[in-house]
Amino acid sequence: MVTGDGAYIKKINRSLLLQKIIENGMISRAELSKQTGLNKATVSVQVLDLLNEKLIIETQQEHNSIGRRPIILSINGKAGYILGIDLDFPLIQFTVTNIAGKPVEVHHLHLDTDNYEKVIDILVQHIKQYEEKYSESVYGLINVVIGIHGTVNNNEMINFVPKFKWHKKKIKEDLLKQLDIDIHIDNNANLSAFAEKVFVHHYSNNLLNIILSSGIGAGIIMDGKLNKGYDGYAGEMGHMIISPNGKSCSCGNHGCWEKYASEPAALKELQILLNKEQLTYSDVRQLLDKKDPVVLEYFKEFIMYLTIGINNIINIYNPEIIVLNSDMLKMYPNAIKEIESNLKSSVSQYREIVLSKLGNKSCVLGACAMGIKRFFEIKEVYLELPESLIQAKQMEYIY
Ligand SMILES: [Zn+2]
Repeated sequence: MVTGDGAYIKKINRSLLLQKIIENGMISRAELSKQTGLNKATVSVQVLDLLNEKLIIETQQEHNSIGRRPIILSINGKAGYILGIDLDFPLIQFTVTNIAGKPVEVHHLHLDTDNYEKVIDILVQHIKQYEEKYSESVYGLINVVIGIHGTVNNNEMINFVPKFKWHKKKIKEDLLKQLDIDIHIDNNANLSAFAEKVFVHHYSNNLLNIILSSGIGAGIIMDGKLNKGYDGYAGEMGHMIISPNGKSCSCGNHGCWEKYASEPAALKELQILLNKEQLTYSDVRQLLDKKDPVVLEYFKEFIMYLTIGINNIINIYNPEIIVLNSDMLKMYPNAIKEIESNLKSSVSQYREIVLSKLGNKSCVLGACAMGIKRFFEIKEVYLELPESLIQAKQMEYIY
């Protein structure tokens, strides 16, 4: 039983009600009462507050049968907006969703600099433009969540970002010198894992999201929570050693998993095998379509190395779902079947391995969902998958 003062209980009830309204999309007061276990009077009082704050709206449902048409509640999407940013190099993705989680605009920017101060200025300039654009709504642009492709500590400071070569940057503090808005900084793999749960695998509390697109990074959700570790750096699975005295890695070790099983490693190896100076994802796709024997042979090896790491991770976490986020695996027929047939240990237990539907939109969508979670102060967010955004042309990663 929850005990505490009235204001505290009221706050908990409010969070619960908002969570259920978001989760259901549209819901009546009676159904809210049923789903939350709160009595009808409590629901009515709280709903009135939310209506007054313009956070929700009520509509009368149309139906053909005789009788009263029920009043349905939903989030007032137009009341405010969230900005998600995927800060990768050289491509930055900006996505704005309304507070109901519906994407309203997407913008991509190619950076021509990796200079920290210049990138901060670019971010400030864009965030200010979005603030201005949405200033007419009740709550305006509410918050900004930024995904970083590197290690971010629990105080939201950057430890290291390989592609930008940034070390120890107080990015949140530096942005707040020029901005007056709630900002949250997180690691891209954490936000991607969060997106997989929010938009696709709603009720999985034990989910691993493994991203192969630049090195190997993982977001870990265990017992329903993002697992970040002591400093915040958990999930650097790409640096798990799978080959003693193997290929040398920028981290200082030899034989790291990402040197064998990441997309950049695969492209590099295929370039050598095919004796090509450059190789794009489209080239690899075409070669696979033509059933090029060298490429097919290589993919067997790639998947073998990938499975070694997955086997190790399964034994550590016993996950329900493993989501593999990889454009390259999507090109290769039966990738998941081959991984599963390589997993021979009777000890490794998991429920399902799947390819990510979110692709390289996962970080930015996770950022928006995180912004919604922060604004409403709710424990869980479940949102509908924005199909049109997912199906829009995927951008190729550039190395
Ligand atoms: Zn390494």
